[in-house]
Amino acid sequence: MGILSIKDVSKTYQSGSRKLTVLDQVNIEISEGESIAIVGPSGSGKTTLLGLCAGLDSPSTGSVILNGNAFEKLTEDQRAAARSRDVGFIFQNFQLLPTLTALENVMVPLELKKRKDAKSKAIELLEKVGLKDRMTHYPTQLSGGEQQRVSIARAFANEPKILFADEPTGNLDTETGEMIEDLIFNLNKEQGTTLILVTHDPELAKRTDRIIHIKGGKIQEESHG
Ligand code: ADP
Repeated sequence: MGILSIKDVSKTYQSGSRKLTVLDQVNIEISEGESIAIVGPSGSGKTTLLGLCAGLDSPSTGSVILNGNAFEKLTEDQRAAARSRDVGFIFQNFQLLPTLTALENVMVPLELKKRKDAKSKAIELLEKVGLKDRMTHYPTQLSGGEQQRVSIARAFANEPKILFADEPTGNLDTETGEMIEDLIFNLNKEQGTTLILVTHDPELAKRTDRIIHIKGGKIQEESHG
């Protein structure tokens, strides 16, 4: 079995008296170390699928199995523990803690893992994403692109087995975007981190091992990146 199995997953939302099917009987098997791009039109269910894969949300029917554990069989606490142990996220809304500096935000996962070198490791990661001069800034004092890079450094700090990224370079300028792309793919190639990203960028999708196309909540085709 792969690191992540999505089995017959459907997701419906109730909107007034109407039922909206956002994902319809989706099946995906992902092997350890693979890099995957999920592509498709806006509103096709990409972000919903990513949230289900990461255990942030539950399917209406079907099963999501991460590292041999079916999320639906875990308690909320066990799920949170599985996430903090195995999973890294780069999401569009950053979710940085507003009362902590850039450095302190990146230190959070390292301190949770009781790493003695939390501070030096966090500094090293912020240097890698080009934020050496911004470490003591609070999120509100950073631009959108800088906040994105702090969230990327924080995701890397977790040394995840699997990294989920939703439009990771969406609001970065070309040069910074390319730098971040290279960091993400280095993590995949050098440390074997499984990578699952949602993107509109065909060039970025092409760098992955496999492209999954989704439309109207159904998988249309899988092509090789
Ligand atoms: P994508 O990432 O491909 O743009 P999403 O997964 O964000 O698509 O959304 C798919 C559909 O599900 C959209 O029509 C969206 O409006 C709807 N949707 C997403 N979240 C919710 C929710 N919590 N309640 C109701 N509808 C939702």
